[in-house]
Amino acid sequence: MKALVFSTRKDEKSYLINAFEALGHKVMFEEVHLNRKTAELAAGFDAVVVFVNDQLDDACLERLAELGVKTVALRCAGYNNVDLEAAKQHGLSVVRVPAYSPYAVAEHALTLLMTLNRHVHKAYNRVREGNFLLDGLVGRDIHHKTVGVIGTGNIGSVFCQIMQGFDCRLLAFDPNPSQALIEQGVEFVDLDSLLQQSDFISLHCPLTPQTHHVIGERALSLMKPGSMLINTSRGGLVDTKAVINSLKNGGLSGLAIDVYEEEADLFFEDQSNQVIADDDLMRLMTFPNVIVTGHQAFLTEEALTNIAQTTADNLICLEKNNTCENQLV
Ligand code: NAD
Repeated sequence: MKALVFSTRKDEKSYLINAFEALGHKVMFEEVHLNRKTAELAAGFDAVVVFVNDQLDDACLERLAELGVKTVALRCAGYNNVDLEAAKQHGLSVVRVPAYSPYAVAEHALTLLMTLNRHVHKAYNRVREGNFLLDGLVGRDIHHKTVGVIGTGNIGSVFCQIMQGFDCRLLAFDPNPSQALIEQGVEFVDLDSLLQQSDFISLHCPLTPQTHHVIGERALSLMKPGSMLINTSRGGLVDTKAVINSLKNGGLSGLAIDVYEEEADLFFEDQSNQVIADDDLMRLMTFPNVIVTGHQAFLTEEALTNIAQTTADNLICLEKNNTCENQLV
């Protein structure tokens, strides 16, 4: 099997080479994103290996199929960037890595929550400049607060379990409530109740037409003044302009995001010598109570190992059996 990896990052390359070569795949790498314009690069390959910001719309998938590509292997869990219906029509199989380390993402969500709540990002800079004043660094105990979790699948469940160590009240919203979490004391409630009662809210649901801008003007108007929002799931879950207004008008008291709705042309690149044209992101980054990380929640050694291994296994499995448990279409 000959596979071409798009959107290659330096941090992942050795993991992919090890896993692919051990299974006898030939693998090559491109740094560019896959989209309808760059699809040509896949000529002569059996599979393309793609990531979160590749854009596999109908035109891109059609071109891949014309070029003889048989499989799209997502090296991530979310698949909102792939038109699955179009993939089916063009006879392409799509596989993904459904779970590689829910701990990596859930632990990053906790890191963001704690950093934001205890102002560690401000303290870090302040102390390095010899300023040991504590003004503006007052946080809140998580103990006995209410934490809302939207989406309790692999990652949301681990996040709930971690938060139980703080002895807080856990509210969850998910169309498929988890019996195991209910038995552990998590209360499943409707979305509005979660929004109204939570001091901290963490998003762990996929981006779908139903969840697009789930945190928008209406949701923000229901949220407790002073609550904090953490998003490690997908940028499109949050209406950025509405969140900026809420931060400006004393609604949210903090926002920490690892994902951003317009991240595709920004994240995973060094933009330090460019003028970043995205006014919303730049506005957000002027707030002292906003933390942005560049889609790194998954970035642990364990996750990178599992992603590479499962992606290589998915391709072998498809080749041998024409089907695979991690297949979407
Ligand atoms: P999962 O499929 O195991 O769980 C998703 C959960 O969301 C399911 O329980 C589902 O029932 C629930 N859900 C579906 N629609 C919902 C809705 N309208 N409201 C509330 N809940 C809803 O997925 P997962 O592995 O836990 O991953 C969750 C998301 O995390 C992924 O979709 C992906 O977007 C994101 N993610 C981000 C990173 C990162 O590095 N930042 C890494 C991996 C995954």
